[in-house]
Amino acid sequence: MSDEVDVPADHPRYQSLLTRHRIEAGVEKGITSTQGLIAEGRGEAFDYLLGEETTPSADRAARAAAAHFLLAAHPVISVNGNVAALVPEEVVELAEATGADIEVNLFGRTEERVRAIAEHLREHGAEEVKGLTADARIPGLSHERAKVDADGIYDADVVLVPLEDGDRAEALGEMGKTEIVIDLNPLSRSARVAAVPIVDNILRALPNVTRHARDLAGASDAELAEIVEAFDPAAALDDAERRLREGAVAEDE
Ligand code: ATP
Ligand code: MG
Repeated sequence: MSDEVDVPADHPRYQSLLTRHRIEAGVEKGITSTQGLIAEGRGEAFDYLLGEETTPSADRAARAAAAHFLLAAHPVISVNGNVAALVPEEVVELAEATGADIEVNLFGRTEERVRAIAEHLREHGAEEVKGLTADARIPGLSHERAKVDADGIYDADVVLVPLEDGDRAEALGEMGKTEIVIDLNPLSRSARVAAVPIVDNILRALPNVTRHARDLAGASDAELAEIVEAFDPAAALDDAERRLREGAVAEDE
């Protein structure tokens, strides 16, 4: 981990401070937008309410996601400014463990930011980063938001979209793609349209999917298909929602 400064390791909210610092550094480096700061704040609130840990249900989702990745013909990991700032090495590791492509895909696309993120990912070990050609469009979205690579997300059968905007998550689903979403808000549209919603902090979720992918590397297609079939996205969202509500009840008592 680089870019780490001045965060006292014995602080009770060390991880949260570190995360904020990384997002702030991302903004300074031109890879994260100021909107990304707002998304971070929203994510932190949900993480706090969920207990800042990977729940058994989120772990099952991560395993189902890994199975999807291993079964896919062309899996792609979509990377935005927050993802690049928070987990660049973990993105590269997941790509290596699953043979997935990495594509920069931004809600507020600017060529400058796409290039800065691609460069940042390469500094963290990525060999090929897609998203710079942007020669295809996701149907049903306005021009800038729709841009993707023809040989990347456009062609993918399985797409991991962490911290994605609901509109685009929906449009990708309509293209027939299997969507894996990482989002701490189980009520967000992104989580609701996903084949596999992982309601967990991306800091924990991404390495967890990689761990499961390595663990399942020797599994047969039939075994992987069984894991995929057994996963119930609605139940995963219900689990997370219940946890949010029970936490709130406990505090009222
Ligand atoms: P919609 O309902 O259309 O999906 P939204 O309100 O969720 O919109 P966005 O800005 O599109 O807003 O999405 C940001 C999402 O990312 C939020 O749901 C937030 O909880 C989540 N998020 C932020 N940081 C993290 C993180 N570190 N790990 C996982 N999820 C995060
Ligand atoms: Mg959302």
